[in-house]
Amino acid sequence: MSDSREVVRGLLRPQFREATPYGAPQLDVAVALNTNENPFELPLEVAEAVAGALREQVPHLNRYPDREFTGLRKALAAYLQAQTGLSLPIESLWAANGSNEVLQHIMMAFGGPGRSALGFVPSYSMHELISVATGTQWIAGRRDEHFDLTAADARAQVQEHDPDIVFLCTPNNPSGTALGVDVIEAVLAASRGIVVVDEAYVEFVRPGTPSALALLGGQPRLIVSRTMSKAFAFAGARLGYLAADPAVIDGLRIVRLPYHLSSLTQAAARAALEHSDALLANVEELKSQRDRIVEGIASLGLTPVPSDANFVLFGGLSDAPATWQALLEHGVLVRDVGIPGHLRVTAGTEAETTAFLNALAAVQR
Ligand code: PMP
Repeated sequence: MSDSREVVRGLLRPQFREATPYGAPQLDVAVALNTNENPFELPLEVAEAVAGALREQVPHLNRYPDREFTGLRKALAAYLQAQTGLSLPIESLWAANGSNEVLQHIMMAFGGPGRSALGFVPSYSMHELISVATGTQWIAGRRDEHFDLTAADARAQVQEHDPDIVFLCTPNNPSGTALGVDVIEAVLAASRGIVVVDEAYVEFVRPGTPSALALLGGQPRLIVSRTMSKAFAFAGARLGYLAADPAVIDGLRIVRLPYHLSSLTQAAARAALEHSDALLANVEELKSQRDRIVEGIASLGLTPVPSDANFVLFGGLSDAPATWQALLEHGVLVRDVGIPGHLRVTAGTEAETTAFLNALAAVQR
């Protein structure tokens, strides 16, 4: 066994020989607050609508799906118009199996050997992993000690590294901090390449934090990616999407595998989008649980980072891995994102959030 491991390791692409796969532990615990999922199951009427849409597709599974997922793109455009007031043509929309695959398409089309991507860390680690997997050189930019990034700092780092692609994540995972539009504008102005704004958690922002979508007109280098995995409570269905100039979409079409979105995925997502109000109904509740976590953590003398997402990063721990383990022993799973003295917790239902706060108070005693 160990011989075959050595043989295979030698055959792996050099950049993967020391790598470990991405992924939080999938443990069977009472309170799982480690992957920023929406804790609420689909309302019954939505579950039935999705099941009905899937049932309609099943007899036709002998055929390949609509390669251009036109109906789904129309549904995404209608949803974005209702949410943001922006009217985007369907030629500006793209979707894939989770926003991870959306990001992979971007990097396959615009990254690659001889090119570089800059991200401001700590941020979503898949930005780096997808860059490396596509042979793109990864450049780890910096944030300040509050995990913030100013326009001037972002501009200076872009000018210093001159990357082909810049990743901005707002609200940022794992810090929960959002970026001002001035930062996105500064990066667009300072860079010559693609600027990806990852808005996976955008539905949870506090009032007054605008989306990068408003900047799309006349910005062919800007890509805004989003997902149905978080606010939409649809992580298991795997549907991420992006909005960009139609010319960007034409580039992505070159690298996607034909028929990458199954007819089942397309039908499920369309049915879900028809019920977007019901699926998003718990967003306000999750925001208030998030705010409760911030207050509860602060009252224990720890230091929560102000969050615009459905999770909270907190510091002030003398031994984060030990606290992670102690919380697990209380039946609460959170995320150790590898920042010394810090852990990240997802906002759960009221009961889950209470269980977390009680467990944290007990282990801090
Ligand atoms: N972007 C960010 C910032 C994320 O945190 C995540 C999920 N953890 C994703 C993208 C990917 O989510 P999905 O593939 O489920 O859309």
